[in-house]
Amino acid sequence: FWKPGAEKPRLVDDEEGGVLFFSSPSGYANIERQRQRLPVYKYRTSILYLVETHATTIIVGETGSGKTTQIPQYLKEAGWADGGRVIACTQPRRLAVQSVASRVAEEMGVKLGEEVGYTIRFEDVTNTGVTMIKFLTDGVLLREMMNDPLLTKYSVIMIDEAHERSISTDILLGLLKKIQRRRPELRLIISSATIQAKSMSDFFQTSKTRRRPEGEELGPNMESAVLSVEGRGFNVQIHYVEEPVPDYLRAAVSTVLLIHEKEPMGDILVFLTGQDDIDAAVQLITEEDQNRGRKSSGLMVLPLYSGLPRSEQELVFTPTPRGKRKVVISTNIAETSITLEGVVYVVDSGFSKQRFYNPITDIENLVVAPISKASARQRTGRAGRVRPGKCYRLYTEEYFAKEMSAEGIPEIQRSNLVPCVIQLKALGIDNILGFDWPASPSSEAMVRALEVLYSLGVLDDDAKLTSPTGFQIAEIPLDPMISKMMLASGQLGCSEEMITIAATLSIQSIWVSGWGSQKELDEAKLNFAAAEGDHVSFLNVYKGFLQSGKSSQWCHKNFVNYQAMKKVLEIREQLRRTAQRIGIVLKSCERDTVVVRKAITNGFFANACRLEASSHDGKYKTIRGSQEVYIHPSSVLFRVNPKWVLYHSLVSTDKQYMRNVISIDPSWLTEAAPHFYQHQRLKSMVH
Ligand code: ADP
Ligand code: MG
Repeated sequence: FWKPGAEKPRLVDDEEGGVLFFSSPSGYANIERQRQRLPVYKYRTSILYLVETHATTIIVGETGSGKTTQIPQYLKEAGWADGGRVIACTQPRRLAVQSVASRVAEEMGVKLGEEVGYTIRFEDVTNTGVTMIKFLTDGVLLREMMNDPLLTKYSVIMIDEAHERSISTDILLGLLKKIQRRRPELRLIISSATIQAKSMSDFFQTSKTRRRPEGEELGPNMESAVLSVEGRGFNVQIHYVEEPVPDYLRAAVSTVLLIHEKEPMGDILVFLTGQDDIDAAVQLITEEDQNRGRKSSGLMVLPLYSGLPRSEQELVFTPTPRGKRKVVISTNIAETSITLEGVVYVVDSGFSKQRFYNPITDIENLVVAPISKASARQRTGRAGRVRPGKCYRLYTEEYFAKEMSAEGIPEIQRSNLVPCVIQLKALGIDNILGFDWPASPSSEAMVRALEVLYSLGVLDDDAKLTSPTGFQIAEIPLDPMISKMMLASGQLGCSEEMITIAATLSIQSIWVSGWGSQKELDEAKLNFAAAEGDHVSFLNVYKGFLQSGKSSQWCHKNFVNYQAMKKVLEIREQLRRTAQRIGIVLKSCERDTVVVRKAITNGFFANACRLEASSHDGKYKTIRGSQEVYIHPSSVLFRVNPKWVLYHSLVSTDKQYMRNVISIDPSWLTEAAPHFYQHQRLKSMVH
């Protein structure tokens, strides 16, 4: 089954003799020792020197070398947070923000939310005037620029995980370069796990053309400095499958069981793609392990993905008990953003969920797609953290060599640009194609985005933000289509309902997963099902939850996720405050579902679909791109198949499925967006 790879394992001298340093509760001295063992520690002085003398410092270092957790602390120790200034460190992922912030608070022996805090959308755990080190998503930092365009409260901004090239990271890099010209005292650190440092330093180099005005004090060197942190990974032996595997999930499951049976102790990290396949794998491994008749084989199987409740996330980080073997089944979040100690075996499916946008059909999808060679190498590296390890690649060596692309494509080149364009416009960047991008987005995608924003009434004929609509929408921290739906609800008198819907759509799911059968869950959902569709069903769940006195028992009985509902309440409160601030009249329509659906249509008209007349299998076509789509089985409208529907998002598996769907009257489309739907075309379809 397995064939060792030809690639020679890298030989690294093993000076520490493979000492395991799990975090243990034995106090400060121990934590200090752990900190000093990290590879970045040797570079502490150099890093501080470069940051002092250069406007931009690029730091490349292997995952786990201590970039994220240590550098902000070094900066603080060196005084960069004195005088009320704040050190910011961005992450592309929310889960990573929370996890590194709590680790750093622990290392510093402070309460999370005081000296060390974090901010993610809808969750601000900082204390103004007290917080010195702040972790935040790159998206939140972008949003902060709307109120404070020069980000004046920060002395140093560390853009972490830059190799991921998330869309917000790329936008931030462009904007920060502009800010630096106005604020030479601001320091930037770009940190990355892989050597794309050259293109990054090229990107920041151009700022050296800035001429120093006469008599200006000598500031920092505007050229960027690059520092490479030598990692201290151990050998990892790579194994490939001999034949392509038909089903990576099954293959991953049997590989884990095989490792557990044959290999010495050490934790296993498995890379799958998302909640669905991860939950399935957790279940399969647990079952098969039990079927083998050994009551306590010592296997602890844990999932890791972004929607996971906090308590389950923490399990992943707790040291493995003696005599046990931990198996963590993760999305690519464990590839570089967070480090799990104790991993000795990696199983790499070769896939991850990636966003893809097609500007022709205007459809954006999260699809399971092959990873790049760079990602595969990162995943492999995770096995060599504590001692020599092994990596099992569920693809052939030939496939790795010949088919896998060298690098991934930056997210900005495969995303719908609507949210990005509105943010830049709100920051006063009008010439978006001429913006200084680290990687340029496609002009087709840009034109599409401008077109959608124009039809939403966000941009005027000169592609400037409209007042007040455009500015109001930019102010709401949601996708512009949802923001538009909220704005319209103010006029239609159903803003209370729409805020509930917007809050519900902001979280992954309000239903429990993982216990009870699918049939029981479906039946529970039926209790709340509304003939008008999923959004209206959400209102029923919310109402039931309130009537129960926000009871967790009620949730349990109805297969509703209590934690998720608490989150909905919290987000709802925040959205209500935003709505009030920007002048949306708060009003309930008392169950008039027509106005509710009209308001949704005002935001989501671009996602309208019509049932194919001849269709017996529920085939719909999108009005814009004539794409074939189907209602997702989780929708209350599955099998109901109303003639006209709007969807909130698409997921693609074997087909394109619409998730969160409502039925509409086609005349609402022309009302909502006359420019978008030329009357004639729609009329001919209605009749
Ligand atoms: P990098 O950013 O370079 O990938 P980090 O700063 O995230 O590295 O991690 C440095 C080290 O800190 C890890 O190797 C690990 O030993 C430790 N560490 C990080 N997060 C945690 C955590 N949540 N629990 C225990 N140890 C952690
Ligand atoms: Mg990191």
